[in-house]
Amino acid sequence: MFKNIAAFFSRGSLKKEIIRNSVLLAFITLISFGLLTGFLLYKNGMSFANKVLKTKNTSINYYVEGYFLKLRNFVEFLSNLKVIKNAPYLDEKSKKYALNLYKQLSKTDPDISYIYSAYTNGYLLINDYTPPEGFDPMVRPWYRAALKSAPHISPGIPYREIKTGKWLVSISKVLINDKGRISGVVSIDSSINKIKVMLGSNDKDFKSLHSFVIRPDGTIIIHNDKRFLGKNIYKIIPEKKEIFKRTKGFFEFSYKGSKRIAYFSFAPKVRWIIVTVCDKREIIMPIFYQILIASLIIALISFLVGIYLTYSFSSHFLEPILQLNKRVGSIVNEEEITEIYVYPNNEIGNIAKNVQQLTEQELVKKNMELKAINKKLDILSTTDRLTGLLNRRKIEKELKKELNRSKRYNQTFSLILIDIDFFKKVNDTFGHQAGDTLLVELSRLMKDTLRSTDLIARWGGEEFLVLCPNTDLNKAANLAERLRLFVENYNFSVETKITISAGVAEYRGQSLDGLISEADKRLYLAKREGRNKVVS
Ligand code: GH3
Ligand code: MG
Ligand code: MG
Repeated sequence: MFKNIAAFFSRGSLKKEIIRNSVLLAFITLISFGLLTGFLLYKNGMSFANKVLKTKNTSINYYVEGYFLKLRNFVEFLSNLKVIKNAPYLDEKSKKYALNLYKQLSKTDPDISYIYSAYTNGYLLINDYTPPEGFDPMVRPWYRAALKSAPHISPGIPYREIKTGKWLVSISKVLINDKGRISGVVSIDSSINKIKVMLGSNDKDFKSLHSFVIRPDGTIIIHNDKRFLGKNIYKIIPEKKEIFKRTKGFFEFSYKGSKRIAYFSFAPKVRWIIVTVCDKREIIMPIFYQILIASLIIALISFLVGIYLTYSFSSHFLEPILQLNKRVGSIVNEEEITEIYVYPNNEIGNIAKNVQQLTEQELVKKNMELKAINKKLDILSTTDRLTGLLNRRKIEKELKKELNRSKRYNQTFSLILIDIDFFKKVNDTFGHQAGDTLLVELSRLMKDTLRSTDLIARWGGEEFLVLCPNTDLNKAANLAERLRLFVENYNFSVETKITISAGVAEYRGQSLDGLISEADKRLYLAKREGRNKVVS
């Protein structure tokens, strides 16, 4: 498989196109999937964060309401007791009874820090507490809150205890005496710590998640960060003022450059608004990482699918075409391919196989034709048309070759220059045609008479040259003589005696021209000495 993949990536423009398109397709798929998963993950993550915010906020709301419901019931109960309403005006025994009641209640509920009542005459009914010098209950926050809410129970009022400086939440209610006048205020104080723990409790998913409490007028009354206590939230985020008119809901805001998302709900009994806040970054970052991981997984899957498709495409469709291209190319260029490739058994494989076979057959045919033509050409270029003997050009080449060979091996060779005697007369007497015929007949005769190692060529009009390799002058002279005799005694188609003269020369280191001219001179001598003669 990997060999195929490597081959796939190595060559061919078709491949480049496929790779380009595959990459593009993978890219588009990746982007689309990435966007889709990103969108879904974002929505999912945000909805999860919203759910956490809302759940947290609601649970605090319920806790606070439940927490204060109990205290409110106590306050309600106490405010209706005669002994409490009229305590300053009763005897010591009754006062003791009332104090004991406060003590018992405090013991039964650990959430209660103090139970006490204060009266219009300045009297304070409380266990184990000596008020500081000049203490005036009527100006304390819990007293004022009770008056403000009269005749109902006050909302939860956080305040600092005057002696210890501890933060407390007071639930108070006015006391109405038998004459229908306000005689004082009864109050239960509870430590704020429990609520603060609840508000700040860490969430395992979102570390920045925290809650705080505001009054409907916007004052922050409980916050784990002391700097915010007593500040008005409408001053911090003025654009959100309207939203708190509802009883609950989500909102987003920016504080000191960082985006926050929040949920708030109104707790009617204490008249608190509980706000739960989380840093948006903390919500977005995990979603971002999830998107990143999802994208990487998608990318990996796309890559693997791409490799598989590439492999499959390559081995079944593309490779046969490329192999065909390569093999047909090699056939045409007559290069040999040794590696074996079996075309796959599919339409493309079959087509490729057939095309290759067809090419091979066609090429073999063409090669044969070409060989035949070349052979003809070769004959035409090396032979004499009339006599069929070698032509002058060819014999000159052979002479050079022979000269080189003899020189190298220190051997000898000879040549015989032959000329027909009085050939002009033959032409004149019997016509040119008859002369030609005679040339043909004579050529055949001489060729048949010669040894197979000798080469005979038509040197000129009625002149012939015989090349006798590995032959000395003597042997060549004998051969020439034999030729002369054969010709002399042969019956040619023309009604006259035909003779030839010959000059023989042997190679002994002279130049080719020198050797030929030597033979030519001897031929001339033979002519001069009466013709039908061999001179060597
Ligand atoms: P010699 O014995 O001195 O060689 O006499 P010759 O007549 O053969 O000599 P010459 O060189 O004067 O004449 C050669 C003649 O050969 C002249 C030419 O017409 C004739 N000839 C040359 N080539 C051909 C050919 O291809 N066909 C025919 N029919 N005649 C040719
Ligand atoms: Mg001649
Ligand atoms: Mg002649």
